Amino acid sequence: MSAPNASGWKPGIPTAGDTPAGPATATGNRALMLEEPLIFELAGNDTTGVDMPEPDNAAPNRLGGRERSAPIGLPGLSEPETVRHYTRLSRQNYAIDLGLFPLGSCTMKHNPRLNEKVARMPGFLDCHPLTPTQSAQGALEVIHQLGEWLKTLTGMPAVAMSPKAGAHGELCGILAIRAALEARGDARKVILCPESAHGTNPATAAFAGYEVEDIPANANGRVDLAALEARLGPDVAGVMITNPNTCGLFEPDFRKIADAVHAAGGFVYCDGANFNAIVGRVRPGDLGVDAMHINLHKTFSTPHGGGGPGSGPVVFSEALAPYAPLPFVEQLGDGSFHLVEEETAGEHHAKSFGRMTAFNGQMGMFTRALTYILSHGADGLRQVAEDAVLNANYVLRSLEDVLHAPFAHSGPCMHEALFGDKNFTGGLSTLDLAKGLIDEGYHPMTMYFPLVVHGAMLVEPTETESKAALDQFIMALRSVAERANAGDPTLKTAPHFAPRRRLDETQAARKPLLAWSDPALV
Ligand SMILES: *Cc1c(COP(=O)(O)O)cnc(C)c1O
Repeated sequence: MSAPNASGWKPGIPTAGDTPAGPATATGNRALMLEEPLIFELAGNDTTGVDMPEPDNAAPNRLGGRERSAPIGLPGLSEPETVRHYTRLSRQNYAIDLGLFPLGSCTMKHNPRLNEKVARMPGFLDCHPLTPTQSAQGALEVIHQLGEWLKTLTGMPAVAMSPKAGAHGELCGILAIRAALEARGDARKVILCPESAHGTNPATAAFAGYEVEDIPANANGRVDLAALEARLGPDVAGVMITNPNTCGLFEPDFRKIADAVHAAGGFVYCDGANFNAIVGRVRPGDLGVDAMHINLHKTFSTPHGGGGPGSGPVVFSEALAPYAPLPFVEQLGDGSFHLVEEETAGEHHAKSFGRMTAFNGQMGMFTRALTYILSHGADGLRQVAEDAVLNANYVLRSLEDVLHAPFAHSGPCMHEALFGDKNFTGGLSTLDLAKGLIDEGYHPMTMYFPLVVHGAMLVEPTETESKAALDQFIMALRSVAERANAGDPTLKTAPHFAPRRRLDETQAARKPLLAWSDPALV
């Protein structure tokens, strides 16, 4: 096999060899990219990082005869071996601090170091959730002030800070809707979700006990308003709509949708995970939203990935505010901050549906998000949205001649550019293109989502990428797309230069091997 395309090399990125097969090396290492076995395969279990002699004449232990009778197979490594093992593995990872991370809907943007500095201030970092409120005034003020910003930015009167991720925020919003319906003795059973909904939306509704029904998208990738209106009725508890939606498009009929849902007695949940596209430009409260979660870990830059950490505060309309969960922070007349922990029948927050978490939420995310907000200011946040949208449109218009762009005809996109695999030949798929992109030094974009586009590729560059970085990414993606359009068979076996080649992802997902077993013991 020959090199598929040698033009994509970038200086500074470790590469694996000069041909796909590569010259074999005696060590398995490829230049400074080091091959690394599993920690269990690295060493026996006879080494420890501690240098202490076996005690003489040890007093009889107090295990009551339950001593270990056989080795338990823990890896034995010295400290430097352990450090090297994990450092080598970390070099095989990809991170936003290494390069552009184009995962659509995930908003992988640069996290300013200032955020980290503030989050690590001992007063915040070491504050225990059970610290008496008199000693935690600063932390409570951060939570309160961030909540005030979120209410102002969204134009909504109430906020719950405790949900710990986007999906958790969705559950919080749906539980508030359910509590409001139950309070009026209304047993509505159905939540409507557009076809382009983020997967968490129908999952949340089903988890909360609702039946989920699809609403089709129209040819422009938006909710089909007529179909939605036709389905509304006394059994519909509400709708869950992502705006901007998962095709990266703004829903221009949102106000009409909200009015129709309200007229039919339902509630409007807006998935605001991608608020970064409209922050400072659009206030969801003006669009008739009743509840919306905001992913602090997307819009407000805090680092995330691999399942955490996240934070998904939920803003509420007047109608749902009484049902919001506890605890929440309240500012008293003397300026101090108070934690409302319990509902008091007949007076304070008596209708709250309960708690989402044991404590207040993700403090580290709150300090990072508030730092980001304060360092940008209101005008800076507006520019965040404008630049995120500008960058996505730059990607869309730079590639629409080589990649099928299903909704490019309907105008600009929002924060992400959506492509499909229609132009590929030779049996090549979106997966093959993504693997080729790994060889070019990029983490692939979000794939096969949204479901409404065949072989979807969702690219979200975010506002933190420079034009030079975007141009280099576009060059790389264009080159792989051209190969996919030409049916280049070497893409089928990409990646050629990664530490691991093409894996059987279906097997890996269906039958994951999560534990190592010692061949000597099997
Ligand atoms: C990221 C995202 C979610 C889920 O957020 P998590 O924090 O991962 O739970 C929900 N909806 C949309 C549109 C998203 O982009």
